[in-house]
Amino acid sequence: MAAAALTRVLNGLPIEITLVESEAIGTVGVGEATIPSLPAFHGLLGVDEREFVNATHATIKLGIEFRDWSRIREGFLHPFGPYGIDANHELFQAYWLKRRQEGRPSSLEEWSVTAMAARLGRFASRPSVSSVAERHLSYAYHLDASLYARFLQAYAEKHGVRRIEGMVIDAEVDEQGLIEALRLRDGRAVSGDFFIDCSGFQAFLIEKTLKTGYEDWAHWLPCDRAVAAQCRSAGDPAPLTRSTAREAGWQWRIPLQHRIGNGYVYCSAYLEDGAAIEKLTETLEGAMLSEPRLLRFRAGRRRSAWVGNCLALGLAAGFLEPLESTSIHFVQTGLARLFSLFPDRNFDPAVSGEYNRLTALEYERARDFLILHYAASNRDDTPFWRHCRAMTVPETLAYKRELFTRTSRIALLEEETFQPSSWLALYTGLGIWPERHEPVVDIFASTELIARHEAMRGAIRSAVEMLPAYATHIGEVTKLA
Ligand SMILES: Cc1cc2nc3c(=O)[nH]c(=O)nc-3n(C[C@H](O)[C@H](O)[C@H](O)COP(=O)(O)OP(=O)(O)OC[C@H]3O[C@@H](n4cnc5c(N)ncnc54)[C@H](O)[C@@H]3O)c2cc1C
Repeated sequence: MAAAALTRVLNGLPIEITLVESEAIGTVGVGEATIPSLPAFHGLLGVDEREFVNATHATIKLGIEFRDWSRIREGFLHPFGPYGIDANHELFQAYWLKRRQEGRPSSLEEWSVTAMAARLGRFASRPSVSSVAERHLSYAYHLDASLYARFLQAYAEKHGVRRIEGMVIDAEVDEQGLIEALRLRDGRAVSGDFFIDCSGFQAFLIEKTLKTGYEDWAHWLPCDRAVAAQCRSAGDPAPLTRSTAREAGWQWRIPLQHRIGNGYVYCSAYLEDGAAIEKLTETLEGAMLSEPRLLRFRAGRRRSAWVGNCLALGLAAGFLEPLESTSIHFVQTGLARLFSLFPDRNFDPAVSGEYNRLTALEYERARDFLILHYAASNRDDTPFWRHCRAMTVPETLAYKRELFTRTSRIALLEEETFQPSSWLALYTGLGIWPERHEPVVDIFASTELIARHEAMRGAIRSAVEMLPAYATHIGEVTKLA
């Protein structure tokens, strides 16, 4: 992603980009659910959607369906995009809460174009039949991570990136702490002005060479392992990632065109690896297509993602479990920050310092959003869930939750990834309800407000019903390849 974006954005400048990677190591090969910034990234690259969908066997994702998180057999949807039509979120939320407090609750899903499209199995990437759908449908992709890495590799090479196949075994660092060159196993040296460490969990430059340090968040996000397995698809792929809470973590289900990606993210203090593999494989919907793979991780972030002339991206920069599919998005936002804070050869620490400040905030905000999934659960059926209920949450999250409960205000702090619509979906999906609605909505006459909003609800439904069937869309895209 970094090589592809750099070659596109720096196009025409006298800058050479070299990508060093090792097929003997390979990529992590998981990371198959994304959020709506990925179509935007492809817009920047000028990637043709049809080519991408075919090369990566991608499907459309309209949000995440959460099952058993608040209580067993209860679920909710976290759709992309806003609630209402061209609506101010605060006003919409106040109205929706007021109606509920008056004894006329409605499902949040009915107020989201994206959620309704997911539920009714409708989709169009560029809806032309309805401007309401066009303005409000927000989508991302499920993709085959290994194929996506190859797709971007080919894109980068085609646009002038020099690729070197080789294993980095050492780095030469000068007396000021700047990296001068990478040393490869076959004896070659690769010198450069600026190094982007995309070496995954190894964090070869940022940690092994520069010893930056890691801020560990395992006390808030205790899941530290995942077992992943692919299985044959059964039926049409739904345009949703599914996340099902389980005894010691949660299970993902990511439908691609040709298979389903499955994984159990769990806490090793509460579940043994063998048991996790068994629990995952016994729930697969179709024949298993790959042996289960075990992955180990620690939630947290690198203390500094940028040190001297080295910037870490991706797993080298930090890790938040894939509960809200944020990792690939963070690669993109890291790149966007790099472009806006692009260095010269002086590598002024003020520039990297600002990058690190913003990156730390972005990780912390998303971390809080993830912690809420666990801390607000009403489950107490296993020691793992009892542990989650009892844990002390970060002050920033405690503040937000208290504010919402008392006033219904959703506080957004600097560098939030998740907008008020996402927080509302999560709070209410987990059963956190405020004591009151925002009084602003009371200035409108009740009858007028009801009429206006009922019209909105109807308009959302009819806009979605005018869209083509989702299966038709995927069929068209793959047929035209
Ligand atoms: C269980 C799990 C589930 C996930 N699910 C999601 C998800 O649903 N959505 C999401 O957005 N993210 C997800 N992620 C994160 C996602 O997988 C990563 O953000 C993404 O794959 C990018 O990884 P990366 O490029 O940083 O590292 P990697 O994929 O590990 O790539 C590292 C690269 O560095 C090269 N390399 C490493 N060391 C050397 C060396 N010494 N010499 C030469 N080359 C080297 C390797 O060859 C490879 O090309 C998940 C992660 C895990 C662990």
